[in-house]
Amino acid sequence: MSRRSPPVIRFAPSPNGYLHPGHAFSALFASETARMLGGRFLLRIEDIDTGRCRPDYERAAYEDLAWLGLDWEKPVRRQSEHFADYQAALKKLRDLGVVYPCFATRAEIAAAIANSGIGAKHWPSDPDGAPLYPGLYKNTPLREQNRLMWEGRSYAWRLDMEKARDLAEKIACGPISFIEEGEGPDGKRGQLTIRPELFGDVVIARKDVPTSYHLSVVVDDALQGVTHITRGQDLFPATYVHRLLQLLLGLPEPRYRHHRLVRDETGRRLSKSARDMSLRALREGGATPDSIRAMIGFDGLRALSGEVGPVRRPESASE
Ligand code: GLU
Repeated sequence: MSRRSPPVIRFAPSPNGYLHPGHAFSALFASETARMLGGRFLLRIEDIDTGRCRPDYERAAYEDLAWLGLDWEKPVRRQSEHFADYQAALKKLRDLGVVYPCFATRAEIAAAIANSGIGAKHWPSDPDGAPLYPGLYKNTPLREQNRLMWEGRSYAWRLDMEKARDLAEKIACGPISFIEEGEGPDGKRGQLTIRPELFGDVVIARKDVPTSYHLSVVVDDALQGVTHITRGQDLFPATYVHRLLQLLLGLPEPRYRHHRLVRDETGRRLSKSARDMSLRALREGGATPDSIRAMIGFDGLRALSGEVGPVRRPESASE
């Protein structure tokens, strides 16, 4: 009789700022899910943006997570050490003919949208609020692509969304879907049919950084055998692109557990820019791991069922 390998769950912060209570919720949610499923808990450092990610933020993340009482398997995978893996995946997508090099500058894209006759205000956006790519350089002949690359022009590899979706649907033998075991933004769960085309021709890699969040996350989740992806609802739409890439690259399908976001008293999502609300600032102001759990409304099982109260700034942590 073959023994099934245990579930694998990860928390994957990007060290481009100090962790805040929203990260604490996500990390606790992931580690608690691993504990409940009798699985392994991994930490992954998503530092492909070498310009914004800093080693001191990474060190601070380890410190903050350990202080919260979390323990994870070592060694930790750092994405900046694995660009070759992402390049290999990009090569597969190129061989499938579902990506194209796009040489458009920001100014060119803005001008194309402004001159479209629709106007920037009414131009459609993707689920993250970014304007859909207007398709410049999509049908550039190979010779011209080679000439521009030879000239040393900057470029991004974009997914030809229509082609990619059609091929992925063929591979899936039907519409693209994923299994939500947590809670989507509208409370939906179960097998959800998704529309990656809402993102248009997304960037999958760049000349200078030969990957993207979307590409490296699916490659790593597969390489690390992640079975359950837990993360905030802000990344729910990104799952559309991830499932598409998993199908195209022949990667296994994980299950998803999206959780509600921690918000402040005004209903705003906590973000790294709220420096005074970093875990370390709160700690310096006298917070304890228990008071952080109370602050974010994380009490294990209840948190897993999606109840997250607003975060109130403790008196002691204010300036
Ligand atoms: N690195 C991403 C972030 O910090 C999370 C990636 C994921 O969980 O898929 O927002």
